[in-house]
Amino acid sequence: MSLDSFLDDLEPDSVEDLDRDATLPGINEGEIVVIRSARRKKNISAYRAGGRIVVSIPARMSRADERAMVPEMVAKIRAQEAAITMSESALADRIDQLLRKFAPEITIRPSDVSWRAMRERWGSCTSVDRRIRISDRLKGAPAHALDYVLFHEAIHLEISDHSFGFKAILGRFPYTDVATAYLDGYEAAETALALPEELKKLLKK
Ligand SMILES: [Zn+2]
Repeated sequence: MSLDSFLDDLEPDSVEDLDRDATLPGINEGEIVVIRSARRKKNISAYRAGGRIVVSIPARMSRADERAMVPEMVAKIRAQEAAITMSESALADRIDQLLRKFAPEITIRPSDVSWRAMRERWGSCTSVDRRIRISDRLKGAPAHALDYVLFHEAIHLEISDHSFGFKAILGRFPYTDVATAYLDGYEAAETALALPEELKKLLKK
């Protein structure tokens, strides 16, 4: 997505949540944002913005058309992403590889690894039930950035805090600079391309 097309979409006449009663299989609450744009005459577009999918439709589009079109656009985005996204079992395999290579003393493995819509964090690990969640903002991220987050969360299986021992193990990951540059850059871009005020209010709900 180019900056221009992003800005083009940021002058909505109105912003609305997808109707709560609309049944859209596989769509998490709050993940889809529909923008009605007065500047849009006919075409409809959809793109990923952080953890959300933004669908921009003409201001005059009818409710019925919206209900028909939005799921179609969301499905299209998901299909594109699926083609470049690691499956959850592939994430678990990758964690296994990273631990074998950089932290062989950690033999514990996650019970479950899954993608989650998380906008505040890159990943999480609950040591009690050994579940690892990875932010879907990392779908399509460069391998080193994803590896860095996977390795970080995997170390938490053994060490729950960010103590000296934790950092000593994390420090073995050889591409930390490249990975953190990407993650920091992503967050900076998210801030720079801040959403319009009315959309921010909506997302806080
Ligand atoms: Zn941590």
